[in-house]
Amino acid sequence: MKYISTRGQVEAKGFVDTVLMGLADDGGLMIPQEIPAVTAGQLEQWKKLSYEELFLAIFSLYSNDEIPADDLKAMVSRSYASFRSPEVAPVVKLKDNQYVLELFHGPTFAFKDVALQYIGEFYSYVSRTRGEIIHILGATSGDTGAAAIQGVRGKEGIKISILHPHQKVSKVQELQMTTAADDNVLNLSVKGNFDDCQKVIKELFADLDFKAKHHLRAINSINFVRILAQTVYYFYAYLHLEAADQQKKVNFIVPSGNFGNVFSGYLAKKMGLPVHKLIIATNENNILERFVTTGEYQPGEFKSTHSPSMDIQVASNFERYLYYLMGEDATKVSAYMNQLQTEGRIVISPEDLKRVQEEFAAYGAGNDECLEVIGRYQKDTGYLLDPHTACGITAYERFSGEGEVGITLATAHPAKFDEAIALTGIKQEFPEEISQLFSKTQHQEVVDFDKEEIVRQLVAFYGN
Ligand SMILES: *Cc1c(COP(=O)(O)O)cnc(C)c1O
Repeated sequence: MKYISTRGQVEAKGFVDTVLMGLADDGGLMIPQEIPAVTAGQLEQWKKLSYEELFLAIFSLYSNDEIPADDLKAMVSRSYASFRSPEVAPVVKLKDNQYVLELFHGPTFAFKDVALQYIGEFYSYVSRTRGEIIHILGATSGDTGAAAIQGVRGKEGIKISILHPHQKVSKVQELQMTTAADDNVLNLSVKGNFDDCQKVIKELFADLDFKAKHHLRAINSINFVRILAQTVYYFYAYLHLEAADQQKKVNFIVPSGNFGNVFSGYLAKKMGLPVHKLIIATNENNILERFVTTGEYQPGEFKSTHSPSMDIQVASNFERYLYYLMGEDATKVSAYMNQLQTEGRIVISPEDLKRVQEEFAAYGAGNDECLEVIGRYQKDTGYLLDPHTACGITAYERFSGEGEVGITLATAHPAKFDEAIALTGIKQEFPEEISQLFSKTQHQEVVDFDKEEIVRQLVAFYGN
């Protein structure tokens, strides 16, 4: 399997080089040259597999044996050893036709751990076997940073710098990132919002000289390996539904920001997983909802909501989907992305919009709806939803049809977002791993949203 760019200007690359490249050198995103098909027979066999075995089965379709099987197996096993659930991603039935897929049993209590624990192992492996210098650089709306730091803190040969929006992440997210005292971790708290942080990162990765000189590696979902690691739990969830429910139309409801998680679901669907619809749930930052309902993709005004990890206006992975929507035509994608850059919006044709709506539905939950759903589910089912998952449940309720089953991805544990939970009047107990964070010392540099200052900090940290 080779990998190419959505903008068509990068020579085809192998799996490891694709992961190391992160953002494609032509400014696009890397994608597999063709998507491997999974047959019904294979799916049937996969029912017997553990989460880790399923991970290996799916990865083997993409990784060309570039990593020897035994090494890969050991990496995957170490990645998921830190999860509090042996199942990694348990499927929980809330009501008839309604499941949640719990993705928050990793070390930092959000779904980002599922892919980032593996990426930490991957970079460590590449550093050891190829002698590559690894300087991870990323922007976070809170959860990616925490998970990435947890994945590589203290690992030899790796340095990690994370930009997060100053005081726009939850307290627990901030603590998870800044209480890592290891020398190889730098937290920059940027006086701006997530889109500002992501913009600086994208510019630094697009500066190929800077990227090469400082050995920059990506952990954001611009990196294909993250997308791939996340497809595993879509398969796992489907295979663990009650047998009768597998016969129904199965929808996945995905709390979304950067379009990474839902793109993983799209990839699973394209591989042959029988998914009826992918339902995109957002909060009041609803660019994706507007796109699916009107065909116009235009970043709007940034809003701070109860689900800060989805406070995003520019959804990086949208470009990957656009590539498939345009019939894998890199020229068309490049033209659209240029237009987005120069005019600030793009509009797809009515025929294309029809195809979007055959695969997706989307709903942006308001702040009040989110809190109402949290309170109601706690009362009716005893299940405490985090605010991101609650946006997902709101979308589920809006779109669930006759004869359909919905699996809502529970992307975070409620203890991570107690600011929102407290507003519902519910008092929750924190898991020990979270309550102990409050007594630790924080390490972070607060900086202006100023690319030069950020670069100065990074260069000083890299020491070259
Ligand atoms: C990152 C995140 C999301 C959004 O995922 P994307 O892949 O960016 O769409 C949703 N919920 C939580 C809790 C997150 O951390």
